[in-house]
Amino acid sequence: MNALPPAPPPLSLALGRCTLVGAGPGDPELLTLKAARAIARATLLLVDDLVSDEIVALAAPGARVIHVGKRGGCRSTAQSFIEKLMIQAVREGEQVVRLKGGDPFIFGRGGEELEHLRAAGIEVEVINGITAGLAAATALGVPLTHRDRAHGVVFITGHAKPGGNSPDWRALAQTCHAARLTLVIYMGVQMAAQIQAELLAGLPACTPVALVQHATLAQQRHALCELQHLHSTLEREGLGSPAVIVVGEVLQGLLALAEAAPHSAAEVAADLAADAPARLSRAA
Ligand code: SAH
Repeated sequence: MNALPPAPPPLSLALGRCTLVGAGPGDPELLTLKAARAIARATLLLVDDLVSDEIVALAAPGARVIHVGKRGGCRSTAQSFIEKLMIQAVREGEQVVRLKGGDPFIFGRGGEELEHLRAAGIEVEVINGITAGLAAATALGVPLTHRDRAHGVVFITGHAKPGGNSPDWRALAQTCHAARLTLVIYMGVQMAAQIQAELLAGLPACTPVALVQHATLAQQRHALCELQHLHSTLEREGLGSPAVIVVGEVLQGLLALAEAAPHSAAEVAADLAADAPARLSRAA
């Protein structure tokens, strides 16, 4: 007896498609080609706050753009609304692009959205973006890992989900010290005083720290200090969100330069931020 023919693959409930796209840290030049193509073929874009207007401008002229961050008057608590909107739009045949700052899978709720869409029978493509913590360090000319100074890197949020547990900063500090890890803290500005106090339980007071606001954008600003001065430096320099806090020995050279010749260190970082592609091509 002939075997039954193989069953056809299950039809997706969706007619359209959904792509979670990382828009990178801000500078439109840091967008991937794949992201740019997905944006250009979208019929509906749901855009987060930290996405540059230049990137949204890559959308096709007829595409609908909805700002779902605070800029659109729709607070982040409306996550379930965003997910419903995506599911409905895909079922109506839209090419949906969910455009997020940095990388969709680094503190971007990309995982939550993916789970909801999959549960609704919708397949999702995810396109990585350059995450802000990596871009911020690079904008200062600092590597997050270094064979002599850091064997790895930890990306962590300073802002837990409401009601959720905040990180165990003391344990983390001890681990980072023992294992020689760079710490990159997202959304840490508001809790900076507490984070500083708890990190000092496991890391030396003189551990170098960089605070980088608006990394890769024209308005990028940064400050360098020792861990013991983290909070006072933030206050003195008036640095606010969006900013990342980088902690670790990878910053040691830049901090030493800043202490010895504050203007040259600031100039090195400013030049790197303004002129990185030109520098690389001149060096090549
Ligand atoms: N998915 C994003 C992170 C979203 S959480 C990513 O991968 O980068 C938002 C936080 O990211 C901000 O509070 C800030 O800590 C950080 N951030 C985003 N863009 C930034 C930028 N251009 N400069 C500095 N920090 C940034």
